[in-house]
Amino acid sequence: MSTELLFREDAYLTRCEARVIAAGERGLQFDRTVFYPMGGGQPGDTGVLLRSDGSTLRIIDTRKGDTADSVLHLTEPGQAQPAIGERVTLELDWDRRYAHMRIHTSLHVLSCVVVAPVTGGNIAVDRGRLDFDIDMSLLDAERIERGVNALIARAVDTETVWITDEALDAHPELVKTMSVQPPRGAGRVRLLKIPGIDLQPCGGTHVRNIGEIGPIKVLRIRNEGRRNKRVEVGFA
Ligand SMILES: [Zn+2]
Repeated sequence: MSTELLFREDAYLTRCEARVIAAGERGLQFDRTVFYPMGGGQPGDTGVLLRSDGSTLRIIDTRKGDTADSVLHLTEPGQAQPAIGERVTLELDWDRRYAHMRIHTSLHVLSCVVVAPVTGGNIAVDRGRLDFDIDMSLLDAERIERGVNALIARAVDTETVWITDEALDAHPELVKTMSVQPPRGAGRVRLLKIPGIDLQPCGGTHVRNIGEIGPIKVLRIRNEGRRNKRVEVGFA
C-alpha cells in the first residue's frame, strides 16, 4: 500500500482530501496524506479526519507502515472506521506540527554548532535534544546558545535537495546522525540544505526559513553515557 507523502514536498500543507486504501486494527491508510509518521526522533502527527456525513474521527498518532511510503493513521479505539474507498478530509493539529518543525530545524542548526557525531535525538513540542559523541568539557551551554542563535538570526531559507544513493555513498561525511538511517527510496536520498550552515540527509519536516525558529535556549547538558552527551534545547 503506497501513500503519496504530501508533507515531503510541502510541510506547510495542513489538510488534504484523501481516499481510504486500507483499514484495520493497525490504522487507516490513504492514497495521500499530510500526516508525518513518527521517525527520526520526530513524533507522529495528530489531527482529525472529516467524513462526508459531517462526522469526525480523531487521529491520535501516525506511524510508518511496512514499506517506506506506507503510513498508518491511528484512530481513537472503539470508533467506527471509514470503509475502503471512502473519500475523507485529513486535517493536522497544525500548532503541534509547526512546533515540531521549528524544534526539528533548530536541531539541524545545533548539529553545526556542536561539531561531533550525533548518536541520538528527540523532538517534542517545546524542546528537542541531540546526543553527541564528544567530551563533556567541550560542551558549554552559553557558547552553544550564542552560536545557535547567531545562525538562526541569519534567517536563511531552507532547501530540499535530492541526490542519488551513489552520490551519498561517495560522501559519507554527509551522514552525521549515526542512529538514523538516511531516507533512501527509489535510488535517491532527500537532503535538507540550510545554505552556508548545514547539508544532511533528512526525511523530516522543516521550516521554510530558519528565522521562524526564533531564539532558543539550552535547557540542560547531561552525560547520558560514554558516547551520549545530551544537549537539550527549547524556545527562549
Ligand atoms: Zn531534518
